[in-house]
Amino acid sequence: MEFELQCERCGACCRHPGEVRLEPEEVASIAAFLHLKEEDFIEAHTRLRKDRRGLALNEMDDQSCVFLAGNSCVIQKVKPRQCREFPNRWVNLLWGKVPLAAMQRDYPMLFGCSAFKTFLNSRKSPPD
Ligand code: SF4
Ligand code: SF4
Repeated sequence: MEFELQCERCGACCRHPGEVRLEPEEVASIAAFLHLKEEDFIEAHTRLRKDRRGLALNEMDDQSCVFLAGNSCVIQKVKPRQCREFPNRWVNLLWGKVPLAAMQRDYPMLFGCSAFKTFLNSRKSPPD
């Protein structure tokens, strides 16, 4: 990976509306971490994804993730890959390859991320 941004624990990604997708093996590891049976974890904390191809974590009424507590993740040690890869996967896929305006349009979540804001501020000449 070319860029390794350091999370600043602002919690913005966990508050951003959208699906936190679970891979099948993540169901077992998160359930075990919470000392729940898999079926109880699924019932209590997940829902069917919009594409009906798997599960996503539930959200609170304000659309933040059900496992956000303050700015911390209750399941930090076993959080889903989608969470672990943000924002670095996207920065490495997009930076220098996609115009900044298109990034802002298509990936607004990145622009709420404190680590990405620090990264942007450190770049003297962002791609146009
Ligand atoms: S699982 Fe944790 S890191 Fe992922 S969105 Fe929820 S609170 Fe944030
Ligand atoms: S938005 Fe960025 S800095 Fe904030 S918690 Fe998420 S990854 Fe970390």
